[in-house]
Amino acid sequence: MNKPIAAPSRTKEILQQFGLHAKKGYGQNFLTDVSVVSRCAQVSHCEGAVIEIGPGIGSLTEQLALCSKHVRAYEVDEKLIPVLKETLKEYGNVEVILQDFLEADVESSVRELREAYGSVAVCANLPYYITTPILFRLFECREGIPYITVMVQKEVADRFAAEPGSKDYGALSVESQYLYDVKKLYAVPRNSFQPAPNVDSAVIQFRQKEIDDPVDDREAFFELVKACFKQRRKTIYNNVREYLGNGETAVRVLREADIDPGCRAQELGQKEFRRLYERTCLCQD
Ligand code: SAM
Repeated sequence: MNKPIAAPSRTKEILQQFGLHAKKGYGQNFLTDVSVVSRCAQVSHCEGAVIEIGPGIGSLTEQLALCSKHVRAYEVDEKLIPVLKETLKEYGNVEVILQDFLEADVESSVRELREAYGSVAVCANLPYYITTPILFRLFECREGIPYITVMVQKEVADRFAAEPGSKDYGALSVESQYLYDVKKLYAVPRNSFQPAPNVDSAVIQFRQKEIDDPVDDREAFFELVKACFKQRRKTIYNNVREYLGNGETAVRVLREADIDPGCRAQELGQKEFRRLYERTCLCQD
């Protein structure tokens, strides 16, 4: 019986057998800690189907295959396809797709998997160079993904999970927390990877919120939020004035939204951003 793929000696063997070298350009750092990968799979709510982005040599994929009815894994590096075929040959419930995930039709994939397996979650150790675009791709999926569990750079996890008033709080926190309850689950030290990256990591989970009264134009809401944080040191008044192109309107809108024009965006919570968005929509009508 084989050791788990994530066992350091097995990973080493696989890399040697296939003459593989981790490609920096694809953000390849392979997990070599069995407890980290199995815990990640176990907390991911993957009992129906699960989508993985970047299976690498299959360390997390294997653990997902043990907990899930079906694993659909998107890998961009064609050299890894024959490797995955070999390492995961015992698992009949794994489907590997050779594709850049940013070009995948996420909507159709989620719909199809939900119809076939009842539920869909996402679980991945993300390539760090495209963490945010991948997450926003998932957030934008109109089919809705109830749980997204991902390993990311620790500092990025801090920004997604940050609360108002903290130094890490910014547009990323407001946008993701509008859609999801965000929870940092556990830290993953850099020596859990082969090769070890220069940064520590963390597993973070996004649980989709029930939004009773969604904004009518999510993109416009996110644009406004980004504009409010454009110059963090400046007051909300300065940033809103630049966004609206008019100082008087900026003061009026802020007053109507019950926001002190002298405060900074990092002090505002979801409710304040919602009120500000609604007032700016009215003033632009
Ligand atoms: N899941 C494996 C593990 O935990 O050991 C590998 C994780 S490694 C950090 C990131 C993986 O994402 C690599 O296998 C890399 O080739 C793949 N990748 C990079 N960019 C991608 C993209 N745009 N679409 C799909 N996979 C990608």
